[in-house]
Amino acid sequence: DAKEKGRGRFRFYSAELGAAVAARLSLERDLRAAQDNHEFELYYQPKIDARNGKVVGAEALLRWHRGGQGMVSPALFIPLAEQLELIVQIGDWVIAQACRQLQAWHAMGLTGMKLAVNLSVAQLNDAGLAVRVADQIQRYGIGPDQLELEITESMMMSDPEQAIANLQALRALGVTLSIDDFGTGYSSMAYLKRLPVSALKLDRSFIQNIDQDATDADLCAGVIALAHMLGLQVVAEGVETPAQRDALLSRDCDYFQGYLFARPLPVTQATAYLQQAA
Ligand code: C2E
Ligand code: MG
Ligand code: MG
Ligand code: MG
Repeated sequence: DAKEKGRGRFRFYSAELGAAVAARLSLERDLRAAQDNHEFELYYQPKIDARNGKVVGAEALLRWHRGGQGMVSPALFIPLAEQLELIVQIGDWVIAQACRQLQAWHAMGLTGMKLAVNLSVAQLNDAGLAVRVADQIQRYGIGPDQLELEITESMMMSDPEQAIANLQALRALGVTLSIDDFGTGYSSMAYLKRLPVSALKLDRSFIQNIDQDATDADLCAGVIALAHMLGLQVVAEGVETPAQRDALLSRDCDYFQGYLFARPLPVTQATAYLQQAA
């Protein structure tokens, strides 16, 4: 009868819910242990100079090899690391590892390379950020301008004064700053004027149809022209086809990243790419 069915359904849902909660708790437990278990690795996606096709550096992208269970997407574990307040510590590891890699590339003769690192909002709101970045730069003896830090516009919302203080301190160190996923956040114009950034990264959503959609093409052309007027360079993210590349080239885009050139690569392959395309 209905009552029995209802009870059966309740048992079914509660078992599913129980499994989901258990899976979530186990993911959290594993993420908390990931750093100690050396499960993080940086991949590197090459960045290409649009004018001559040469590689100018890369973006470091964090990967998590979850104990025996394969790779977890950053889209899943970065927000979780933020919620669990692990991201400042993980982010410190990413910055240190990036500086160590720049030193290694330098020692191999890849001297001019730049490496971009993504920041989270908690890092940008942490009063100790600039000092810790300075420590790593000094520890590995890299040029401060070889390190580039990517922020997003939305990161300016929670504590803009601390964020701006950090950005100014980083800029004073000589670190390069850029705005990631540009065009997807709020207050672009206000922050463009205030932030000591050197580059904008045009979000992939504007690039996807640039060769077919006149509005997207006009938008990109306008953003690039505006950026250049403000003395900023423009990086296109997610360039996948020659048609997208050509559409961006004819609109004066400065740098490309995307699968057309290279996917994010583990260090050995990334190094080979840099050596061949430098
Ligand atoms: P993001 O910084 O905007 O990085 C670009 C993302 O686009 C990367 O995804 C990259 O693999 C992907 N991508 C690059 N070229 C193409 C392309 O041609 N087509 C397509 N479809 N995708 C492309 P990934 O590595 O999964 O990272 C996702 C996001 O996770 C990053 O977006 C960034 O916001 C965050 N993230 C990654 N590593 C870190 C980190 O060390 N710290 C922090 N705070 N966030 C990170
Ligand atoms: Mg990025
Ligand atoms: Mg991006
Ligand atoms: Mg993006």
